Amino acid sequence: MSSRYKAEIVSVGTELLRGEITDTNASYLAAELPFLGIELHRVVTVADDHEQLCQVLRQAMARSDLIITGGGLGPTEDDLTRDCIADVLGEKLSVDPELERQLRTMFTRMGREMPEHNIRQAVLIPSAVSLPNPRGTAPGWWVDKDEKTIVALPGPPRELMPMWRNEVTPRLQARFPGESILSRIIKTFTVAEARVSELVQPFFKAANLEIGIYSKPDGIHIRFIAHGDDAEQTLDTTEAQLEELFSPYVWGKDDDTLEEIVCNWLTNRGLTLATMEDGTGGLLAGSITEASKSSGCFRGGLIASSSETKLAWGVPEDLIKQHGAISAEVAEAMAAAARERLSADIGLSTTGIAGLDSPEGKPPGLAFVGISDDHGTRTWQQNYPPSRADARSRGAVAALFRLRERLIELGLTTS
Ligand code: AMP
Ligand code: MG
Repeated sequence: MSSRYKAEIVSVGTELLRGEITDTNASYLAAELPFLGIELHRVVTVADDHEQLCQVLRQAMARSDLIITGGGLGPTEDDLTRDCIADVLGEKLSVDPELERQLRTMFTRMGREMPEHNIRQAVLIPSAVSLPNPRGTAPGWWVDKDEKTIVALPGPPRELMPMWRNEVTPRLQARFPGESILSRIIKTFTVAEARVSELVQPFFKAANLEIGIYSKPDGIHIRFIAHGDDAEQTLDTTEAQLEELFSPYVWGKDDDTLEEIVCNWLTNRGLTLATMEDGTGGLLAGSITEASKSSGCFRGGLIASSSETKLAWGVPEDLIKQHGAISAEVAEAMAAAARERLSADIGLSTTGIAGLDSPEGKPPGLAFVGISDDHGTRTWQQNYPPSRADARSRGAVAALFRLRERLIELGLTTS
């Protein structure tokens, strides 16, 4: 049974241990394994050190069925994953002629001579088969020995992820046929994590269902995973129940993003958007630019970090004097100015206190979102915990939510 099949991830690299790079490979793999019915029970990080890596691999072999290594497959002397797997399994490395041919062809195609030390990337041991890497020079390894499996993947995430998806996942699925595991995500906003947890309690009791609650910058995500032959049916039923339970709060599912949703709506209606930001410092414009249809609807964004800049772009001086730069009135004027200056149908603004001080005698974390459109202007007050990074990211997300709300209110959500 695969539920007893235990996996361990070994992340190889001194730079990981020093905190110079974040181990995104381990979190990616950890999130993938549940869908294969494989239980991850350990993640180990180890330096580029022969003795330590061999020791970690030996320990992993003793306690886990599947060991996934990431990194250490480069061409240099400190890339030791292949050597250590060979040592631990008591096998000899030898150059595989087909891998060597492929490697040389790859270098020829790049118009470069292959440095001789790259031949290290063309070696195999008798128990290993190579996993093709169309994005780099290091093939992966799939090793089956003594009822244990070692999968060695290259470190760069843009190589590791496609190799995992295209080469490793199908092999693991073939090993556990019939194990059907499916998942969906429902994304909510303005409902507290504790409240979500309380409301989903009854779902935790279902035998073939797993529920996860995650707090993300764009709200609380509820992930539900169903096992077994009727997984699809279970997901449909659960999704309908959750949507009903959280109906006013649900804004999307699975891969939906806020910017993608609002840009689709705007583009489908032939409407354009412009932004003016203080406090979020361009993050709102950056998020909108992430949407695949942003060029169809986004006119551009202005960053107005000072009162002088706001004035220069058309925010009336008496409004700033009377209400202060962090106010509903100024948010409204900023949205109107962005709309006018950039000739857009809709202007969206943020103004808030990102730092920890209290300008204008107002509390840190105070922020406003403004929207200006053909039908008038709207503003909303937001209050965040004092933190510069939070104020920026939550301010940008709040502005996108308010825009979504406004488009719903105006009936502009369909094509
Ligand atoms: P390596 O295969 O060890 O030579 O790794 C090559 C590069 O991949 C490193 O310099 C990192 O930029 C990246 N990398 C390696 N391991 C990880 C990891 N666990 N998470 C994110 N990036 C990684
Ligand atoms: Mg490395």
